[in-house]
Amino acid sequence: MSSTTPLRSTGATDGIPGRRFQVFTARNLAQIPGLSRLSAEQRFAMEVVASVLPFRVNEYVVNELIDWDRVPDDPIFQLVFPQRDMLAPDSFGRMADALRNDADRATIQLLAREIRGTLNPHPAGQMDLNVPEHQGETVEGMQHKYRETVLFFPSQGQVCHSYCTFCFRWAQFVGDKELRFASNEADSLIDYLRSHPRVSDLLMTGGDPMVMKTRNLAQYLEPLLQPELAHVQTVRIGTKALTFWPYRFVTDKDADDLLRLLERLSESGRHVAIMAHYNHPQELSTPIAEEAIRRLRDTGAEIRSQGPLLNHINNDPRDWAALWRKQVRLGIIPYYMFVERDTGARRYFEVPLARAWEVYREAMKQVSGLGRTARGPSMSADPGKVEIQGVTEVQGEKVFVLRFIQGRNPDWVQRPFFARFDAEATWLNHLQPAFGEKEFFFEAEYRQMLAQAG
Ligand SMILES: *Cc1c(COP(=O)(O)O)cnc(C)c1O
Repeated sequence: MSSTTPLRSTGATDGIPGRRFQVFTARNLAQIPGLSRLSAEQRFAMEVVASVLPFRVNEYVVNELIDWDRVPDDPIFQLVFPQRDMLAPDSFGRMADALRNDADRATIQLLAREIRGTLNPHPAGQMDLNVPEHQGETVEGMQHKYRETVLFFPSQGQVCHSYCTFCFRWAQFVGDKELRFASNEADSLIDYLRSHPRVSDLLMTGGDPMVMKTRNLAQYLEPLLQPELAHVQTVRIGTKALTFWPYRFVTDKDADDLLRLLERLSESGRHVAIMAHYNHPQELSTPIAEEAIRRLRDTGAEIRSQGPLLNHINNDPRDWAALWRKQVRLGIIPYYMFVERDTGARRYFEVPLARAWEVYREAMKQVSGLGRTARGPSMSADPGKVEIQGVTEVQGEKVFVLRFIQGRNPDWVQRPFFARFDAEATWLNHLQPAFGEKEFFFEAEYRQMLAQAG
């Protein structure tokens, strides 16, 4: 990329030194300095869980975001480090035995795969139902579930600067080839978009597309400047780099080139939206995190925030209120509060839907209107994104009020519907229709869609 264009956003990075990206994985977990504070048993438990679920953390997160005096309760520690109860006791026990008995690599791999298979690695029909076809061929690395928005998973972006312990895309990171979505085909993406004029939004996701070098990212983003793709008005990039590696936008070698690329997209009339994944105000506690946000916003991009509600990390309305308040101050627009999906370590993180709504409402009450733009709590389920609007009583029956924020059929969107109240339910499939009805209004049509896809 040419680096002759002057960058609109200059200055103020003076004084922020660069940082070398240094990563820890299951193989060198023991070398992480702070871990010596934990008991041998706790460290062993981490190894056991890290043999099944992905683990990767970088030195910035370890040294700047985690408050080691509060470990193991520190929210960022919980966000990146494996914990014993993330596996069912039986699975944990079997893997612990295998490691204690020095089982060979193949045995451990086999057991790990078996345990992963019990953790619903592909929630919400991701593998079959949403992968589109173009000219008779399935388009790899793409999902097209909702009419306006295409999700694209660039192959070089299928990793992150650190992994979240609750990640719903965890299966991509453990090396099971068939569980992976990826594509190295910028051309097929562009072709697909060209022939789908109803698509207004492209959402680049991963992994984390921001782990890619700017020159690779440009392969996907620059063609969008073509006039034939003028219908793609919004380019969203999902990322956790503002938390895990803000240097990407400030001092990394190609940081300025990245900002220039985003600036050109904005100047072409596109809305560039950085979909930033945040879970806790502690992620915004460093000067470099703020500087990265400032520089991104200077390109004309908007930053919107989203993230799930998680036990052990942010199951407290005060955390959400603090997060939203700080985001608003920094110019970030709160977008979604998600319900933790039915996959991976959900047993450790899940929160009853009734509690999720309570946290959302209590947090909303504490912030001004500008902080109340986050929708939720929202379940990204098979039929669509379903929001819990509240708990109430209708003619003596206690119910959840629900609505679709997004649906496989756009006509489902915004229609209120009702489920019998259930204090324990943590996902849509635990809910029953209220008022003695046999099924929810969308179910017959949804079954038909499944049959057609099948
Ligand atoms: C959330 C989501 C989108 C984007 O939906 P918006 O409501 O436009 O934010 C697109 N595709 C999938 C599969 C999603 O889960």
